[in-house]
Amino acid sequence: MPEKAADGAVIWNGFITDITEQKQSQEKIHQLAFYDDLTGLPNRRLLDYRMGLVQAASSRLRSYGAILFIDLDDFKRLNDTMGHSVGDELLKTLARRLEGRTRSVDTVARLGGDEFVVILDRLGNKENEAAQRAGLVAEDIQAIITQPVNLPQHEHRCAASIGITLFQGDVDSREELLRRADTAMYQAKADGRNSIRFYNPELQRRMERQFRMEAEIRQAIDSDQFFLHLQKQVGGNGKLIGAEALLRWNNPSLGMVSPMEFIPVAEETGLILPLGNWVLENACRILKDWEQEAATADLSLSINVSARQFHQKDFVRQVQRAIDEHKVSPDRLKLELTESLVLEDIEDSMDKMEQLHALGLHFSMDDFGTGYSSMAYLSRLPFDEVKIDKSFVQNAARDRNQRDWVIIEAIIGLASNLNMRVVAEGVETQTQQSYLCHLGCRCFQGYFYGRPKPVEEFNVAIKSQFHGTESS
Ligand code: C2E
Ligand code: MG
Ligand code: MG
Repeated sequence: MPEKAADGAVIWNGFITDITEQKQSQEKIHQLAFYDDLTGLPNRRLLDYRMGLVQAASSRLRSYGAILFIDLDDFKRLNDTMGHSVGDELLKTLARRLEGRTRSVDTVARLGGDEFVVILDRLGNKENEAAQRAGLVAEDIQAIITQPVNLPQHEHRCAASIGITLFQGDVDSREELLRRADTAMYQAKADGRNSIRFYNPELQRRMERQFRMEAEIRQAIDSDQFFLHLQKQVGGNGKLIGAEALLRWNNPSLGMVSPMEFIPVAEETGLILPLGNWVLENACRILKDWEQEAATADLSLSINVSARQFHQKDFVRQVQRAIDEHKVSPDRLKLELTESLVLEDIEDSMDKMEQLHALGLHFSMDDFGTGYSSMAYLSRLPFDEVKIDKSFVQNAARDRNQRDWVIIEAIIGLASNLNMRVVAEGVETQTQQSYLCHLGCRCFQGYFYGRPKPVEEFNVAIKSQFHGTESS
């Protein structure tokens, strides 16, 4: 309370505190809470808050906005090879560039690692134009990211994959919008480095199915939802020479899922390792079973091996263990590998194939003609067999100018010069079979000879056919 002095002047009593320090520490707390430590850009929390504001404005003005999700390509490799401090320097430089290039109404934030998000505000009321503007900003961002950065030992050139999603108003939650931009960014990555992709709901549905599938595959391994089908392989005279094991999945909620759909998911998530082992174990069981019967004792069994499975460190040991455990003859087991698998790491492929070959196993090059078809490698690797991809066999039947027949003939010539057997896949008709035969192909697989069948059914048919021919 003020007091009055004798002369009537008002005297104020009080303390004067210097609050500079307090102010500074409040600012520091604010900085820590809302800004990224390394780059000084807004962090996830502030991004979320700003998105809320932008969505509210967009709702009022009915104008479009966009979220750009930016992820650097190959940043991890730079970090691992050059060290984290160099990686940090690079991120700081790029952060400054991003800030410099966007308008003041836009927000540039760092989510962490090498991920940045840009919110573009007020892109107009027309969706097309908004998309065009967002695309131009993304291209601009890409251009400034790819400009060289001077690092201590060298000049580095970055690249970035950018995913974009548009929004209007606040109907979609902030998490949902970020997720969409992230999905589009993944698509950009999948389509090759340094690309820009817009969110696409169809793609989203596919990805959701994949996520769901991942969880389901884990469960399916434990609850016996996988089983094998066997498909005949026959020689020129129609004699059965073996079979290919094809994986099948009957899922209680998704129904029958094609291996074309679940094998890539299993590859990506690493679930192919237990799954591939399951196939190997079961193939050995089938072979053991076959050994006991005259009808099947001479047959060989082919299994498909995926890249991640094959390139595991102890793949050779796993195969050896399965063979030893089931006491089967290794020369009845054939591993089908694709060209891309082999070429992914040629040294490793060569090394493993030689070890497995020494154990007595055989190799077949699957889907030949669809990959790089590197003749030089084919001759250096211990392949016993080449499978002509079914697309050639099927196109050839339709192709008037017979281009595919020429390719087939070349494959047959090449393989026979290298002493390899040729199996034509996907043979569906008598005409196809006759043509293939005419070109010198002697082994076949396809619906014309039999569709893939459950193991039991396959065995019963083979045995009854064998005993039928024996008694006739
Ligand atoms: P692939 O190894 O090239 O197998 C041949 C595919 O052609 C099989 O498809 C088979 O059912 C199909 N097919 C056979 N004959 C014909 C025919 O006359 N016409 C037509 N149109 N198709 C025919 P499926 O079973 O859907 O398998 C697809 C692919 O999935 C396989 O191609 C293989 O790459 C992969 N896959 C299957 N089982 C396994 C497995 O156990 N492990 C791994 N890693 N991949 C597998
Ligand atoms: Mg195959
Ligand atoms: Mg094939």
